Amino acid sequence: MTAARSRDRATWGTVREELRARGMRWTPQRRQILQVLAATDGHITGSELLERCRKLDPATTPSTVYRTLDVLEELGVIRHSHGLDGREEFHVQPVAEHGHLVCSSCGASREIDAAQAAPIARAFRRTHDFDIFLDHLTLAGRCAACRAAQAG
Ligand SMILES: [Zn+2]
Ligand SMILES: [Zn+2]
Ligand SMILES: [Zn+2]
Repeated sequence: MTAARSRDRATWGTVREELRARGMRWTPQRRQILQVLAATDGHITGSELLERCRKLDPATTPSTVYRTLDVLEELGVIRHSHGLDGREEFHVQPVAEHGHLVCSSCGASREIDAAQAAPIARAFRRTHDFDIFLDHLTLAGRCAACRAAQAG
């Protein structure tokens, strides 16, 4: 936990200056968005982020949240992948590049790491001459718990 905290601080340390350099004002709302993101474990969608920020400051606007997300992604502080419905889900960096297995029954999500994806990537490289982006690899299916429940 301590290690994770200090890592977050290092990652987020220069964001304020970077935003200023891009002509974005350092407002309390923006600071709060960054705090909520830095405390996020795993994935968060724009609307979830907006909801969390609004609990803390009801005046938070969607445009502030989405504009901040855009800039943070440009800066490389966050990255996005896509859920089954195509929604963008944001990951706070640093995080190893990964894909996702998503259960279409319960929504549970598991990560696919680079080693696990390597055989798939090689196969499509060979058959389609196509490079897969691991962070955009989202596979739908059914998790073990849902299969067991169905089997009954
Ligand atoms: Zn995308
Ligand atoms: Zn499931
Ligand atoms: Zn992920």
